Amino acid sequence: MASVWLAGLALLLAGPVPALLARARWTRSVPRAAIVLWQAVASAAVLAAVGSALAAPEALLRVFTHPEERTGVPLAIAVGAAAVLAGLIVVRLVGVLVLLAVRTRVRRSRHRDMVDLLARAEQGDSVGTLRSGTVLRVLDGAVPFAYCVPGRVGREGRVVVTGATLDRLCPAELRAVIAHEQAHLDARHDLVREGFTALHQAFPVVVRSREALEAVALLLEMLADDAGRRRHGDDAMAGALDAFACAAAPDDETHVRRDRIRAHVHGGRALAAGTYLAAVALVVVPTITIVIPWLTDALPTVGVR
Ligand SMILES: [Zn+2]
Repeated sequence: MASVWLAGLALLLAGPVPALLARARWTRSVPRAAIVLWQAVASAAVLAAVGSALAAPEALLRVFTHPEERTGVPLAIAVGAAAVLAGLIVVRLVGVLVLLAVRTRVRRSRHRDMVDLLARAEQGDSVGTLRSGTVLRVLDGAVPFAYCVPGRVGREGRVVVTGATLDRLCPAELRAVIAHEQAHLDARHDLVREGFTALHQAFPVVVRSREALEAVALLLEMLADDAGRRRHGDDAMAGALDAFACAAAPDDETHVRRDRIRAHVHGGRALAAGTYLAAVALVVVPTITIVIPWLTDALPTVGVR
């Protein structure tokens, strides 16, 4: 039965739960806690899928054999099948993660070299001082935008802005933008995105959905916006996003982020605490209610007491 419960839980956490969570608006007031909840949903889905694969052969053994027959070859086949099924899930996930990590780092290294090559010599004084480990690169460009490229271990990350960003943003807005990008680099938001991208690619196409990826990406932007707000104020951060929104498509997330700041959305501690609690419960409750009873029952079958 544990296998069925865990398979059901894995499907629930791969489909309906991400769909509901992606549509929720309350997550925008507590982006940090909401990202932890997304990570718990993803972890619980993977653990449930692996658990279901481990439990399935043992469940079949119980259905098709008498207790006295659950030894020798039938037992060895069940244990072997469980190991192979669970191993396939883990190997696929790890394989996708490693491949993605290597490709991302190669692409990023080229990107850093390119912005170093194309960057203008002068930089705006209004940007202020960047933290050590980060360098600013200004590219020619008539459209205001900014982004960052994380550095390798021991190498500096880049904050990249266009000339139009320097021209159109006031000094406070520019500093808020830099604080936003610095927050991405300091908290390694790229690793969080990478984890969700790997999981997305590792999932079978039929249950794969971009909702989780896009929702987490937006929450990471909001988290970085909050860093800019804390250091330079709501007006500076919203003003910068105003300039970026002018050049963006009407359905671009920049408008959503700007409106969120204009509405002075701040999450309450109770909501954040409740969200963290839900994240812990997602991993702990299935372990206590399904996995531990199954292990207590199944381990003596394979001679572990
Ligand atoms: Zn950002």
